[in-house]
Amino acid sequence: MSKDVIIIGAGVSGVTTALTLQCLGYDTEIIAKHTYDDLPDAGSLPEFASLFPAASIIPHSAHTDQLQAIFSSSQALFFNLRKQAFPGITFHEHYEVFEYEVDPPSYLDQMLNVQFMDELDPDSVPRRLQSPKLYGWSFDGLFADWPNYFTALNNRYTQHGGTITQQKLSTDDISQLPAPIIINCSGTGSDTLFKDPVDEPKVSRGHILHKAGTPLIKNSEDQVVSYNYTPQASLYSDLEGQPCDVYCYPRKDGWVLGGSRQIGRLHEQRWPPFGDDETYQIDGCSVPAQIIDLNHQILTHTYNKELANPDELTAQIGYRYIRNKNNGLRLEKEEKEGKMIIHNYGHGGAGVTLSWGCALAVAQKIARQEIPELKSALLQEL
Ligand SMILES: Cc1cc2nc3c(=O)[nH]c(=O)nc-3n(C[C@H](O)[C@H](O)[C@H](O)COP(=O)(O)OP(=O)(O)OC[C@H]3O[C@@H](n4cnc5c(N)ncnc54)[C@H](O)[C@@H]3O)c2cc1C
Repeated sequence: MSKDVIIIGAGVSGVTTALTLQCLGYDTEIIAKHTYDDLPDAGSLPEFASLFPAASIIPHSAHTDQLQAIFSSSQALFFNLRKQAFPGITFHEHYEVFEYEVDPPSYLDQMLNVQFMDELDPDSVPRRLQSPKLYGWSFDGLFADWPNYFTALNNRYTQHGGTITQQKLSTDDISQLPAPIIINCSGTGSDTLFKDPVDEPKVSRGHILHKAGTPLIKNSEDQVVSYNYTPQASLYSDLEGQPCDVYCYPRKDGWVLGGSRQIGRLHEQRWPPFGDDETYQIDGCSVPAQIIDLNHQILTHTYNKELANPDELTAQIGYRYIRNKNNGLRLEKEEKEGKMIIHNYGHGGAGVTLSWGCALAVAQKIARQEIPELKSALLQEL
């Protein structure tokens, strides 16, 4: 049956875009090789990034010159959903801590209740026993409790009349799809399906660990606390000697821990080793030891909570599609074989963060209305 719009991909970009268009009155269908129902096979699907996000609403590792505008409209939508008690959207007191001096990122202007290190109570700041002088800031940040949020997002789409069809598409199928408008949210699949115009597109491979059944970590005001902590490069760094961060985001079903960012080419399965080769073997993955050891030190020393036994952790690996570091996000329209194709991929480490902003930008390209108008129409329907 023909549709107004077909969306390729059932990750966070595809489902958010499809839900947005469906709420704005378009008859849509998602076609995807894999859907959220494939979660039990997540360990064997590193290319399906939406099975893996941590999922903070912070524009980490996103490369686009439209970042401020997209993040701003995305975050505004998340705030509104939070007000409407959409499942899985929470607020954290989030810390970004460094063992060396750094410039604050420009997105900090858009965060609530920002406090710099010298304004913070030192006892509340994530630290390890031998932390040197610390730098950084905290803010009240949005967080998507992934199993709850992504399930609700998928359900909301089908409740609004959207359909999801599981099918692997090839390039030749595109012209036959029964809709005049195709939205490409196929993530790392984009290069095969549409021939990505970027030379040698890159992915950032990341380890993500889960410790089930652990309590939420809270501050004295009963607010959930999360952190990214970057030690000196001598403790944890990539092959080029750049310091790497570790993180902990408490979720209802336990703690999500990371991180690593191994940059490699999409079609070559070769990953640079870590600066320090020491690893733990968990679920068949070689996990950089520092993710566990540093998080353990921080959790013990700051929150009196133990990570301790690697056997109690599960580990997965996912790919963040960064394409290139100059302008990785591809959010643009092209005409192909009589169809309007709109690309929405290359979100790097911030696909969740940017999901609503990108969905609204796609809707704008179709509806030719301004974002605030589209946003209020969307919120009325959601
Ligand atoms: C370890 C890790 C931690 C992360 N943490 C965060 C975080 O804290 N915050 C955040 O904002 N982001 C985070 N991200 C990034 C985020 O997960 C991604 O940016 C996001 O999930 C990308 O979603 P997507 O829908 O664009 O692509 P994907 O989720 O990769 O979905 C692609 C879809 O396209 C389909 N597809 C591909 N090829 C075909 C084909 N030929 N035919 C049909 N369908 C096809 C796939 O089956 C899938 O359904 C993290 C990523 C990783 C790996």
